[in-house]
Amino acid sequence: MSIRVHPHGQVEVVVPRRTRSSEVQTFVGAHREWIERARRTLGVQDRPAIPLFPTEIRFRFVDKRWGVNHVPFDGPIRLRALADEIQIHAEQPGNPRGFRLLQDWLKQQGKRLLVPRLESLSRETGLRFMRSQIRLQRSRWGSCSSMGSISLNAAALFVEPALVDYLILHELSHTRHMNHSAKFWSLLDSLAPGARKLDRALNLAWRDVPPWLYRR
Ligand SMILES: [Zn+2]
Repeated sequence: MSIRVHPHGQVEVVVPRRTRSSEVQTFVGAHREWIERARRTLGVQDRPAIPLFPTEIRFRFVDKRWGVNHVPFDGPIRLRALADEIQIHAEQPGNPRGFRLLQDWLKQQGKRLLVPRLESLSRETGLRFMRSQIRLQRSRWGSCSSMGSISLNAAALFVEPALVDYLILHELSHTRHMNHSAKFWSLLDSLAPGARKLDRALNLAWRDVPPWLYRR
């Protein structure tokens, strides 16, 4: 087995085929001081390693996966979305502009997939909204303005469909009650039985949202 420390601080361990992971851990543990010394020498001990692009994107909402590949390319950075693959043509994997292209693509997917669901649940429930918007926020799944404008977080694509429906019904219920009053909850519970439980489950679903959504 061998260990290398790369210039940006990433640690690479090369092991023979069929090595057990416990053996790798023991090996790394035995060389921990050496690794830390090497990273200190490079001046990277406090700097996080450069984030790379994700290798896969999976939308639980529609059970769809894409592999993500970095394609080395000298020209201007661009994203190509194929049926099952997202290609990021860029000089470097982890180029911040590449993350922004991924985020823009995600918002487009939100328009394509979340908005039709909002429209159909609006028709089914008779709760009308004026405008819809797809955003990418860190701390809220959606909102509804007093003007009846509903905004949904594109991050909801990473959430299972039952919870996305709950989110949409929650925002649609706000077109009738602009608060979280008892009346609001009883309306919402009539549309999404077990609403409070679904609300808690939706809050936990943040852990399924990958960090690349918020890279700058
Ligand atoms: Zn609310």
